[in-house]
Amino acid sequence: MAHLTCFSCSLIIFSLSFLTLSNAVYYQVTNEDPDTPGGRNFTEIIGFEYAKEVMYVTNDFIWNTVFEQYSLEDRKPVDTVDLFMKDFKDMHPGVAAEVWEKNKINFNVNTFNGVPSDMLKRVFTSIMYHEMTHVFQWNGEGLAPGGLTEGIADYTVIRANYVDVATYTKPGEGDRWDEGYGVTARFLEYCDTLTPSFVAKLNKLMRPTYDVSFFQELTGKSVEQLWDDYKTYYGQTR
Ligand SMILES: [Zn+2]
Repeated sequence: MAHLTCFSCSLIIFSLSFLTLSNAVYYQVTNEDPDTPGGRNFTEIIGFEYAKEVMYVTNDFIWNTVFEQYSLEDRKPVDTVDLFMKDFKDMHPGVAAEVWEKNKINFNVNTFNGVPSDMLKRVFTSIMYHEMTHVFQWNGEGLAPGGLTEGIADYTVIRANYVDVATYTKPGEGDRWDEGYGVTARFLEYCDTLTPSFVAKLNKLMRPTYDVSFFQELTGKSVEQLWDDYKTYYGQTR
């Protein structure tokens, strides 16, 4: 009897600590196209439980490591994140996943086609770091350039060590700071070396609005100057 009581207690303690850590964000996963090759890959190799675990881990990483948001007030209030695994067919060629209606992620199961089965979980997780960042990042009430928000989403993937360094954008590459994805993410890494926690601070400033002067505010240099310095640093002047 004592043993049973103890067991129940530990279960309650475990649930409480889980809720505290996750602030009771609920993660829901739906496989809308289970009979396609990609849909089957999801069910059989990745699985619902693993997907939910990834949502929890990426959420936690984004709050605590990338955005350094240690209190509820700093975080974007989100009750539920919905992940829909679906076959995009020809709807959005080349799109791996997207966030729509704020907290809903559409994930294209065709992304899994041609991926070796032992790499599927890694590919899934890498994309989820990017998409979950979109769910939790501030975007200046829609004023921030898309290239910047895409760059911040990719920056999370780099920080989590989920990019394939052999093929991913190298530091110093690109033509514009707001080109997006790897180019902007690498530039943001450089900004981090000038101002510690630059991305976390920039994201915080982007809560109510966006202005390009945020770069100046945080580093003392305009974004154009930073980009020039960045290109010079890596020996690739424009
Ligand atoms: Zn994106």
